[in-house]
Amino acid sequence: MLTQHRVLVLNSSYEAINICTAKRAILMLLSGKADLVENAGEEVRSPTFRMTLPEVIRLRRYISLPYRPIPYCRKNIMLRDGFICQYCGEQFSPDELTLDHVIPISRGGHDSWSNVVTACKHCNHKKGNNLLEELGMNVLSRPRRPTLPTFLHLVRVIGKKRDVWRKYLFYDDDEENEAVV
Ligand SMILES: [Zn+2]
Repeated sequence: MLTQHRVLVLNSSYEAINICTAKRAILMLLSGKADLVENAGEEVRSPTFRMTLPEVIRLRRYISLPYRPIPYCRKNIMLRDGFICQYCGEQFSPDELTLDHVIPISRGGHDSWSNVVTACKHCNHKKGNNLLEELGMNVLSRPRRPTLPTFLHLVRVIGKKRDVWRKYLFYDDDEENEAVV
């Protein structure tokens, strides 16, 4: 539950700036880097502590976003891809997804934003060490480093389905009709 439940992270100014796992959010709360804003109404228990599952947290220190590049990591690649397998187009939960090198490392591919996509286990296995053209497969969209506006847009798309997040993401009525990624 702690690695699957996603938590909205607000800047100290209450702007939504990120999504993290409940595990990370709890660590930030325990270390005093963030305060709890909304909880999910469920309790997390371990032998040593018990606390409510966070839903929205707020950083104590303001982070200046324009100077902060989006970190290259598993979570952000999946967020960029909307938790959708880039080969079959199905949406999965994070633990059912893997990352796939479009051009396999063994064939000269790099570990980078432009060569790594989200893939379900089935598609990843099917692709193996092959190139897309060898299997007649395609990617839904060409992978790229997301820009900050794209990234924040994705946070909003995901947040739309989460009632507790909505009031921090300030949706206009117009956006209700926008296509969901
Ligand atoms: Zn797939």
